[in-house]
Amino acid sequence: MDEALLRDQMVALARSLFERGFSVGSAGNISARTADGGYLITPTNSSLGRLAAGRLSKLDSAFRPVSGDPPSKEVVMHRAFYEGRPEAGAVVHLHSTMATAIACLAEADANQPIAALTPYFFMRIGARLPVIPYFRPGDPAMEAAICAEAPTARAVLLSNHGPVVSAATLVDAVNAAEELEEAAKLALLLAGKPVRTLTPDQVAALLPH
Ligand SMILES: [Zn+2]
Repeated sequence: MDEALLRDQMVALARSLFERGFSVGSAGNISARTADGGYLITPTNSSLGRLAAGRLSKLDSAFRPVSGDPPSKEVVMHRAFYEGRPEAGAVVHLHSTMATAIACLAEADANQPIAALTPYFFMRIGARLPVIPYFRPGDPAMEAAICAEAPTARAVLLSNHGPVVSAATLVDAVNAAEELEEAAKLALLLAGKPVRTLTPDQVAALLPH
């Protein structure tokens, strides 16, 4: 995609996430690969609701800043996905309430913290949603922990922090982050109630072969 179009798309999708409450304050950051081998990422301390296309951070293929405002301090979690998962073309990180609530549950399953309730979760996120141990924001050790899971997971949950979701395109990554938030909401709404979960065969039929 032409970089000018990608910049406009990033601004519009980020504003949409912000306006619907998926992100508050300056929380959350979004990145995408550019056609020249570099990356665009939302700037540090920026609100997803008020981005400017011309001020997005442009990084080169080694994640060095090239132009625009300074990049998000959480750039390492984006780099972890691009390096661990070559098919990733975009990454969305949110502190969205329901997914972050799941990331705080003491007894969450470390590979599948959200019950198998709806097909779209598996179509968008896949079979695994690894829960990464807690790291202080900015701790460089977080990158290796995410990178280790990225080859076999499209998304991870950072303990007590929030989701990081990748996909081939920016639109797909935003859709997947929204699907993850809705799945987390359903799981919390149904907590403690007897539910009819999808069977392993039903889940397997949703996954790429
Ligand atoms: Zn964060």
